[in-house]
Amino acid sequence: MKNIENNIKILKKKIQYSLENNNSLLKKIKIIAASKNQSVEKIQIVLSSGIYEFGENYIQESIHKIKKLKKNNKIIWHFIGKLQSKKTKLVAQYFDWCQTIDREKIAILLNKYRTNKKIPMNVLIQINISQEENKNGIYIKNYKKLANIVSKMPNLNFRGIMAMPKKEKEIIKYCDYENIRNIFNILKNEYKSVDTLSLGTSFDVKTALMYNSNMIRIGKDIFNS
Ligand SMILES: *Cc1c(COP(=O)(O)O)cnc(C)c1O
Repeated sequence: MKNIENNIKILKKKIQYSLENNNSLLKKIKIIAASKNQSVEKIQIVLSSGIYEFGENYIQESIHKIKKLKKNNKIIWHFIGKLQSKKTKLVAQYFDWCQTIDREKIAILLNKYRTNKKIPMNVLIQINISQEENKNGIYIKNYKKLANIVSKMPNLNFRGIMAMPKKEKEIIKYCDYENIRNIFNILKNEYKSVDTLSLGTSFDVKTALMYNSNMIRIGKDIFNS
């Protein structure tokens, strides 16, 4: 358990170093602890280290944790897993953010199930940055149409985009990062509500920050011993 605290210190150092200690940039970076397969006890250690936002992938597992940690009203839950239509109701009820909208149907269902009593759900469109068929996310050529639809949903707050670039044979593909930054800038200019670029996991924090990411999703570098 000590490891987690130490890992978080190292992660924060890495972020500081990547942004050359630029305080105004540092303040804008949100760390999301990717807590799939991690216990409630471990999540509590992360909380006590000052990280309050968690990303979960599997709906049943996450609802169990959300219920257990309900008393802590500082926690913000992000759904970052692949989203099937039949799971949208639970995501809309239990989560504060959904980062993986990749088609119109999902947006319509989340909007429908997010009852008006609740504040709108913060949502990101997931972009299939490597343009591969078996990858999650929407193709680059189609994102504008989906953005337009999402932005009009009253129970959704369109905050930006999420992507997962991959390394090919240990080589970081900088052109993917460039593309994603361009899409983010286009959407930021078009929609007032857009302010979030969720990009970067344990392997590419530094690169993601270099390309203006302001939300990183970290699993291994926080939880691994
Ligand atoms: C697991 C996961 C992460 C975290 O990846 P690590 O390599 O463990 O840092 C980030 N984003 C998504 C969508 C994930 O499923």
